[in-house]
This record gives sequence, C-alpha cells and structure tokens, in this order.
Amino acid sequence: MDCLYGFACNPCSFACPHGAITKSSTSTVPHVDYDKCIGCMECVYQCPGLAIFGYDLRKDNLFLPIEYEVKEKEVVYLVNNYGERLGEGIIEKVLHKPNKTNIARVKALDVHGEDLVKVRGFVVKENYPQPLDLEPLLKDQPGATFICHCDDVTLDEPTNPENPDIEKEETYMRVEAKVLQWNLVSRDVILE
Ligand code: SF4
Ligand code: SF4
Repeated sequence: MDCLYGFACNPCSFACPHGAITKSSTSTVPHVDYDKCIGCMECVYQCPGLAIFGYDLRKDNLFLPIEYEVKEKEVVYLVNNYGERLGEGIIEKVLHKPNKTNIARVKALDVHGEDLVKVRGFVVKENYPQPLDLEPLLKDQPGATFICHCDDVTLDEPTNPENPDIEKEETYMRVEAKVLQWNLVSRDVILE
C-alpha cells in the first residue's frame, strides 16, 4: 500500500470484508493487518487513489490498479515507483467493476519472489519501446502543503491575497463540498 499522507479518504477501511484495513482517523494513513488479509483484492477496486497493489508470489501474478485503457495479452515493462524497469510481464486480464478502480492482472515473466513487491505499475512495451527519460525526483524540493488533494487546494490558497483566481469563500466551499462528498461515498460503501 502506498498511501503515505493521512488525508480525508477511507473507502479501503470499509472495503475489506475481513477487517484487515483500519484507519484510526481521516488524518492518519491506513494500517493493514496482513494476518487477516486473504488476498481478495476488494480493497484494490475500492481505492480511488490507486494506492493499493496486490501480489501473488506463488503464481508471479500482480494486481495493479490502472486508470487508462489497456488490452489483454499485451506485453509490458514492469516498473517501480520511480518508473525504472524491473522486468517484463503480460497483461492476462483487465478486471472491471462499475464505478470502481480497474485492475490489471499481470503475469510477471522475469521478476519473481520478493522482488515482485517492488513493482508498482507497468508501461505497455509497444507504446514505449525506448527507455523512459526520467526526471530527477522532486521529493527533496520544498513544496506546497495541501489541505485537499482532490482539488489541489493548498494551505495558503484560501488566504493568499495574491491568488486572483479563487475567492476565499469559494475555496472553503470547495473543501467542504469535497468532505461532504466523501462522507456520502463512505455511507454508500457501508450500505453496499
Ligand atoms: S486484499 Fe481483500 S482481505 Fe486483503 S486487505 Fe484487501 S480487501 Fe482485505
Ligand atoms: S482508499 Fe486508497 S487513497 Fe484512500 S485512504 Fe485508503 S489506501 Fe489511501
């Protein structure tokens, strides 16, 4: 799971039928109890942030969330969080659920065992046959603090007088509307 910032999101904690995922509050990151997890992948479907990944180390299968169209049987480069190639795989199946995150079930061809858990995504080989031109990491550069990642609202945005585009009240309303929307989503998940 790559959910590193505690923000107002929690479908994963309602998704797990075995109670393996908990969030103590909306401002903390989720906790996974792997002793309870049976690998059903329901949480991968339910995570809107594409932050949960599934691995079957015995069968070299990866369950990777995707938000674009891919074809089954395509050969892909398996990549880590930095876009670096780790090996190759083949998309065996694209799993869909209405209004949920799609999952590509990918068979790893030359990555095995514990190395599989380094894989976080893939690049379709035919589309990008050349090595990717990777930019340096931005993680060490100072950046804005976000109070809402869904609409990219930064901490200083509501009060920054140099922000001519967004009125103060409008920004607060957007944040409140987003929180309300998440509450409704959470309620729907409970009712499902
Ligand atoms: S894979 Fe299934 S059992 Fe495991 S944490 Fe996700 S929802 Fe729960
Ligand atoms: S649903 Fe996904 S993005 Fe939201 S808290 Fe859970 S792991 Fe993080």
